[in-house]
Amino acid sequence: MRTEPAALILIVDDDLDNLRVLSTLLTDSGFRVLTAKSGQDACHKLGQITPDLILVEGMMSEVDGFELCRRIKINPRFQKTPVILIIARNENQSRLVELNLESVDYLAKPFLPIEVLIRIRLNLQLLSLTRSLHESTNLLNQEIIARQIVEAELYTLNQDLEQKVIERTQALTLVLNELQLREEKLTYAAFHDSLTGLFNRAWLMQYLSEIFEQEQPQLGHAILFLDLDRFKSVNDHLGHIVGDKLLQQVAKRLQNCIEPSHKIVRLSGDEFLIFLVNQDGIASVETVANSVLQQLHIPFEIDKYQISIGVSIGILPSTLNYQQPTDILRDADAAMYQAKRSGKGCYIVFTNEMQLQTLKRLQLEGELRQSIEKNEFCLYYQPIFCLESQKIVGLEALIQWQHPQKGLISPDQFITIAEDMGIIPSLDLLALKLACQQLYQWQQELQCAESLVIHINIAAAQLQHLDLVEQIQKILYDNHISPSAIRLEVTENAFINGSSIVTQVLEKIHDLGIKLCIDDFGTGYSCFSQLHTFPVDTLKIDRSFTKNVNASVESAAIVQTLINFANSLGIAVVAEGIETQIQLEDLQKFGCEFGQGYLFSRPLPIAEITNFLRIQDS
Ligand code: C2E
Ligand code: MG
Ligand code: MG
Repeated sequence: MRTEPAALILIVDDDLDNLRVLSTLLTDSGFRVLTAKSGQDACHKLGQITPDLILVEGMMSEVDGFELCRRIKINPRFQKTPVILIIARNENQSRLVELNLESVDYLAKPFLPIEVLIRIRLNLQLLSLTRSLHESTNLLNQEIIARQIVEAELYTLNQDLEQKVIERTQALTLVLNELQLREEKLTYAAFHDSLTGLFNRAWLMQYLSEIFEQEQPQLGHAILFLDLDRFKSVNDHLGHIVGDKLLQQVAKRLQNCIEPSHKIVRLSGDEFLIFLVNQDGIASVETVANSVLQQLHIPFEIDKYQISIGVSIGILPSTLNYQQPTDILRDADAAMYQAKRSGKGCYIVFTNEMQLQTLKRLQLEGELRQSIEKNEFCLYYQPIFCLESQKIVGLEALIQWQHPQKGLISPDQFITIAEDMGIIPSLDLLALKLACQQLYQWQQELQCAESLVIHINIAAAQLQHLDLVEQIQKILYDNHISPSAIRLEVTENAFINGSSIVTQVLEKIHDLGIKLCIDDFGTGYSCFSQLHTFPVDTLKIDRSFTKNVNASVESAAIVQTLINFANSLGIAVVAEGIETQIQLEDLQKFGCEFGQGYLFSRPLPIAEITNFLRIQDS
C-alpha cells in the first residue's frame, strides 16, 4: 500500500536555538523538516524545493519574517502554501493587517509546543482541503470543457447531419422526380407512337378493354379504320425519311378532321384508326370519313416533292354488341379491305354480309394452309399466240386450287391470301415443278413442244430470297428442262420496288438463261425510264389497257407508246386479256407481236391444252 510521505516543513529563524527546538519538535511529530537560518537562506532554498508549510520567525535581522512572507507570496508557486508567522504577543497588529496575505497565519509567542503542532496540522489540513478542492475544481473544469467540446462536436455533428439530411432529401427528391418523369415517359412511350405522337395499338387495346369493363353504355362508339393508298410506293421510291414525314403530316391532317373527344391511333405502318366516342347514327361518322378523304386527297408538299396519296376507310358504325377488342378491329379491317377492293380512295361501312365474308376468308385461309400437303393444286395453261402467224409460242401456267367441296378455285381468289399468309413461295415452286414435269412430257410426245416457252408467275416477295435461284435450277435439272424453255413473270412493282437483293436475284435468274417477263405492265408506277436496266426480254401489257384499246384514246396512245418503246429496246410485247376481234386488230395495227386472251383460249386443263398443241403439231 502506498503511504503519503510526511509533510515537508521549512522552518526559518535566525535564532539557532529556536530553530533546533522547533526542528526537533516537528521531526518528533513525524514531519520532514528543512531549516533556513535567515530570510535570504530561506529564499535561496525555496528556489530549489517546495515545502508543504513554512514556519517563519517574524523578528529576524536583515529580511524579517514579514518581508519574507511578502516575497514568498509574490511567487505564484507558493500562493497556496501555508505560511505561519511567529510573532511576539505584543507585536504591532497593524503590520499583520498590512500584510493581509492569503494563507498566512500567525502564532503568538510564547506558545506551547502543542499549539504549534495544532496550528501546523490545521494549516496542512486546510492546504490539503484547498488542494483537493482545487483538484476537484480542475477536474470539474476539465469535465466542463470536455463536455463543452463534446457538445460543440455534437452540435457540429448535428448540423452536419441536418445538412446531410437536407442534401439527401433534396437528392432523393430529385431522383424521385426523375423516376416519376421517367415513368411518365415510359408510360407515354408505351402508349404512343414515337413518330406521330398519336396513340398506338397498345393504348387502343387497353382503352377498348376498359370500355368493355364498364357498364353497357347507351350509345356505342364508331370506328374508322384507315389504310393509306400508295404509301408503300412513296416509301419505296422516295425513301423512308420522306415516308416518315408524310406520316407525320397525315397525322396532323387527321387531327383537323375530329373533335377533341375523339381519338386517333396509329396502328402500324400506314394504318390509322379514328375512335369516335358516343355516336348515335351513321350520319356524323360519314361526315368525319368524308372530311378525312378530302383532307388526305390534297397533295402533300414534302421536301421538294409533291405527293398525292389517298386513303381507304372501313367504318364500323357501332361498337355495341361487341365483346372483344380484336373483333372490333377485325370487322373494321374487313370494311377497309372492301374499300381497297372497291378501287381505294373511298369508305365502306361494315355490314353483316362482310362479317360472313371475313369468316369465309378465315375459313379459306385455314383450308389453304393444308391444301399444299393435300396436293390440291394443278395447273391450267393459257396459250400465248404470235398475233401474225396465229401460232402458239408459249403457255402461261396458272395455278388452280381443286377444292374438295368448292370445286376449282381460280388464282385471283387465293393468290393474294396466300401472299398475305406467306405460303406463296411453296405454291410458286410447286407451279414451276408441275410445269416442268408437264413440259418434259410434252417434249417427249409433241414436236411443237420443243420450241414452247412456259410462262410461270412468281410472286414479287419471292425475289427477296437469294436461294430462289438454286431452287429453280434444281427443279429444272431434276426435270430435264432447259432454262431457255422457261419465262418467269414478275409484276411490274417488283422491279420498281426492288431492293439490291431483288436485282441480284433477277440477274442470277437471267444468267441461268431463264427469260424474264414484266407482268401487268402499266398497273404500277410505270418503270419506263428504268426498263432498259432490267434483264427482261418480254413485257406484258395489262388487261386493263387491252380492254380499252379500242374504247379510249388515252389507252390506245399508252399501248402504242409502250409497244414502240419496248420494240426500240428489243423487248417483246405480249398483250394479255384479248377478248374481241377489234382489240386484236388494234393491237396488230400498233405492232404488238404476241397476245393471249379469251378470244383465243381461256386457261385450259392439261388434256385440252394437249389437244390444242396436237392440232398445232399436225
Ligand atoms: P396474270 O399473270 O396476269 O394472269 C392473267 C390472268 O388473267 C389470269 O387470271 C387469266 O385467267 C386471266 N385472263 C386471261 N385472259 C383473259 C381475258 O381475256 N379476259 C379476262 N377477263 N381475264 C383473262 P387468273 O388465272 O385468275 O390469275 C390471276 C393472277 O394470279 C395471275 O395474273 C397471276 O398474277 C396470279 N397467278 C396465277 N398463277 C400463279 C402462280 O402460280 N404463282 C403466282 N405467284 N401467281 C399466280
Ligand atoms: Mg402472268
Ligand atoms: Mg397479267
